[in-house]
Amino acid sequence: MIGTAAVPWARLLPEPRREAARIVDAACVRLWLGEVATRLEAERDFLTQLDAAIGDADHGVNMHRGFTAVMTMIAELEAATPGQLLKVAGRTFVSTVGGAAGPLYGTAFLQAGEVLEDHRTFGPRLLLDALRASLEGVQRIGAASVGDKTMVDALSPALGAYGLELRMGGSLETAASGAREAAAEGMRGTIPLQARKGRASYLGPRSVGHQDPGATSTALMFAALEQAVIADRSQRFAHGTRRPVSGS
Ligand code: ADP
Ligand code: MG
Repeated sequence: MIGTAAVPWARLLPEPRREAARIVDAACVRLWLGEVATRLEAERDFLTQLDAAIGDADHGVNMHRGFTAVMTMIAELEAATPGQLLKVAGRTFVSTVGGAAGPLYGTAFLQAGEVLEDHRTFGPRLLLDALRASLEGVQRIGAASVGDKTMVDALSPALGAYGLELRMGGSLETAASGAREAAAEGMRGTIPLQARKGRASYLGPRSVGHQDPGATSTALMFAALEQAVIADRSQRFAHGTRRPVSGS
């Protein structure tokens, strides 16, 4: 991590310059959504297999269909802000994905988009607020808590790790990395749990011993986020500061 301790003169720069290395803009959000779509394509059958064990074998297909539609929709929105991109992603998800995952992920994206308002760029703290709003939206609709063997078991610890890293002075990259690790750990942690929400809960104790599909797709999204912010930063350094800086 290159923080102000490692680069003493960074403290002397006005706030916007220090923020420059860790802002997010629409290009970065597009990179993230594209990376999620690519990974979902690769993991579609695996996610469906997980859902075959404790659900109805459609999670991979659902997620892939939803994200394919999202990528088509956002390709037509050239001048969209990050918030608009996420709101379109959310609405597209709700309208193209059935089952539990459609409204749950749809709400998560919509809520995040609302928090970002019409900012063209934003910093890691506003991303934390957006992630919080996503979790609140998922829990408002699905009423799942940590330990119920759902996507909340990956999303909640990811958010916790992201926030902790920022409070410890970390950067967007290290916070995204912490979130990716925590989400993966939460995902693996669903294996010994008995499902208390969603279709898998119908199986009762027979849901034990299987990894939750929704927690797995959530972990995939955080892995994609880490990759997108790192790729975005390298692109920015390679091309100079090509973007306006006004993140919070
Ligand atoms: P469905 O179960 O309707 O077929 P999917 O297979 O696409 O929908 O998604 C299943 C995933 O949705 C589960 O693995 C779980 O993570 C998530 N899920 C189900 N119900 C809830 C809920 N009430 N709250 C949060 N996540 C849920
Ligand atoms: Mg299913």
